[in-house]
Amino acid sequence: MAVPFRRTSKTKKRKRRTHFKLQVPGMNECSNCGEMKLSHRVCPECGHYDGKEVVNN
Ligand SMILES: [Zn+2]
Repeated sequence: MAVPFRRTSKTKKRKRRTHFKLQVPGMNECSNCGEMKLSHRVCPECGHYDGKEVVNN
């Protein structure tokens, strides 16, 4: 529902936006370096997958 922006408190707005990141489909954090990566794919940052290094940079 559209509401004048001053009616939404900073806390309410920020709490709502904590979910924004989670809505990107198929993304999660790399368990090795913590970068965002596509799930079920090798991490493009460090080349790790499932706790092992699969790609040597
Ligand atoms: Zn990584």
